[in-house]
Amino acid sequence: MSIVNAREMLVGATKGHYAVGAFNITNLIQLEGVVEAHVEAKAPLIIQTSVSPVKFLEPDVIVSVYRSIAGKRDIPICLHLDHCTDIDFCKMCADTGWTNVMIDASKQPFEENVRQTREVVEYCHSVGDITVEGELGTVSGVEDQIKVVEDETQLCNPDQVLEFVEATGVDLFAPAIGTAHGVYKTKNPKVDFERLGMIAKLLNGEKVNTPLVVHGGTGLPEDYVKRLIEMGGSKFNVSTDLKRTWINAVYEYISANREEYDPGKLDKHAKNAIKAKVNEWIAMLGSAGKA
Ligand SMILES: [Zn+2]
Repeated sequence: MSIVNAREMLVGATKGHYAVGAFNITNLIQLEGVVEAHVEAKAPLIIQTSVSPVKFLEPDVIVSVYRSIAGKRDIPICLHLDHCTDIDFCKMCADTGWTNVMIDASKQPFEENVRQTREVVEYCHSVGDITVEGELGTVSGVEDQIKVVEDETQLCNPDQVLEFVEATGVDLFAPAIGTAHGVYKTKNPKVDFERLGMIAKLLNGEKVNTPLVVHGGTGLPEDYVKRLIEMGGSKFNVSTDLKRTWINAVYEYISANREEYDPGKLDKHAKNAIKAKVNEWIAMLGSAGKA
């Protein structure tokens, strides 16, 4: 069964000490590049869409393409809605066919974050086998027009984790641990590995209850990625890296072939660039052969 939610694959990843890549796509060619790389590597996969591309491409079109592509592949593929701050939009995506939804109420006070997250969890669990990701603390940078400046960044408070997870019923938990969206301005971003390890012990010490998500994968040095996996991260979000790869590949091709008017060749070049980038991530995350 290749159309799945995120839970089972991430429980497997947590137990097996590897991580599943969650790749943000904005068009069909990127989607196909990401899927092909994972099929060839026999790796489980999470496809992510931010809210803007969902509005631009239309929700039912995205789900039809996802089902058609994922249904034919023998690796588990989840379709995840990333960083949605609108409860009704989360519900609409759950109704349309997303298999995992992130309600991001992390900018709200704790009680309000719990209330909104719980509402989405109750809805998603009642309409189907749809899993939900919630976030506590805020990840700095810009993701799909949600901007968090560094001074407003708040790391996840471990004392609130159990209460948040129990009160909301979330299936996946994203604690803010110092990783950031966009591109890191320094070679050594300040990431609180111990905080992640502490949270992992709280939630998944005895048995894996709530897999942990690491946001802001782009630009993290390889040894950081490996350490975050060791500490218990099992879903790695990669957005900016793919966007840059896509735009650079398209720009390069057009610059070098300004007189050519064959979109097929351009698409192939860009898709291969995406595949090469995704293969680097699969190697770092250790997900090859785990499907
Ligand atoms: Zn994120």
